[in-house]
Amino acid sequence: MRRTFWVAGCIAILWMVTFGIGGVMTRNDSGIVQLTSPHAAEALAPQPAPESAPAPAAEPLQQPQIAPEPVPKLVPEPVQEIIQEQVQEQVQTTMQELVPGTVQSSPEPQPAPSAQPQAAASPQPAPAESPNPAAAEPKPASNPAPSPEKRSEEPVSIPVLNYHSIGHDPDNSLLLAPEKLEKQLQHLKEEGYTPLTLEQFILIMEKREPAPPKPVLLTFDDGYTDNYTEAMPLLRKYEVPAVVFVSPGMVGTPGYMTWEQIKELDQSGWDIMPHGMTHPHLPKLSAAKQKEEIAESRRLIEQELGNKADVYCYPYGEFNQTTLDILKENGYRYAFTIEQGRASSAQSPYKLKRIYVSGKESISTWIRKLSASS
Ligand SMILES: [Zn+2]
Repeated sequence: MRRTFWVAGCIAILWMVTFGIGGVMTRNDSGIVQLTSPHAAEALAPQPAPESAPAPAAEPLQQPQIAPEPVPKLVPEPVQEIIQEQVQEQVQTTMQELVPGTVQSSPEPQPAPSAQPQAAASPQPAPAESPNPAAAEPKPASNPAPSPEKRSEEPVSIPVLNYHSIGHDPDNSLLLAPEKLEKQLQHLKEEGYTPLTLEQFILIMEKREPAPPKPVLLTFDDGYTDNYTEAMPLLRKYEVPAVVFVSPGMVGTPGYMTWEQIKELDQSGWDIMPHGMTHPHLPKLSAAKQKEEIAESRRLIEQELGNKADVYCYPYGEFNQTTLDILKENGYRYAFTIEQGRASSAQSPYKLKRIYVSGKESISTWIRKLSASS
């Protein structure tokens, strides 16, 4: 019995060794035969677990569930929502900008926005002129009547710059360096000033034309040669007109322009006006002599250029009552002094102020004087 059992066991072992029941014999790299477990055989088999994992690689069980699903779902969804919100906002804003009616339609139900546009619109158009007492009674009552009348009564004031010679002499304030003049011209251009011709200046002062933005008038006294050689090219470059007051008795003498040069200035847009025949101290002269200085200078300029020269400039800024009488009798319309300040329609037409431009002052000082309100 025991023998039989032993023999049967040997046969069974032999059978198992031969057919590999319950195990698999493999040969490793070194040629040694190894018996692997049945669990390892399942792992090697391609079919065993089609249900559990969708992916073929079944290494980690937890990663495929957590990692792949949430990443693609969580990221794109909020991004899409944000983009949609942005697009909606853009569409709404552009619609409001393009179609004014949509602004009113949307905020209508809300009280705040509907009240704001009404309040904002009413003051701008015509609170002064419209006699509607509905919105604001005190404003129309106070504004409409005085403002138009006051505007017409308000004096017009314009800065009139008073230059002399353009050149280099740091000890003489009458000489302004050409570089400084160009900086000033650049400033006028960059800051939106409107340089005027003399006729434009007069029309504005007489309120026959509205004042342009930041009007300014440039004047040069005495008729120095450098007005032709230095100032004219710069003013032409910046398209700025100017007035030059010349003394015909000095024309063509050393340091002063010739008639030919003056005519070129005239043709390039400058106004040529009288400054006395010999640049005299008028108050020291007799009435007859004053009249001769004033009348003859005008006559000669008009004769040479063929233009009216009825705006005077006092040599040294000096005048007396006799001077004023002579100007009036001889049909002068205006006269410039060297009193400092803006020219104003409130001033006597024969006592217009100017702003002296010193060659020694800085550009910032010049700007301050130019932009001063009085
Ligand atoms: Zn002078």
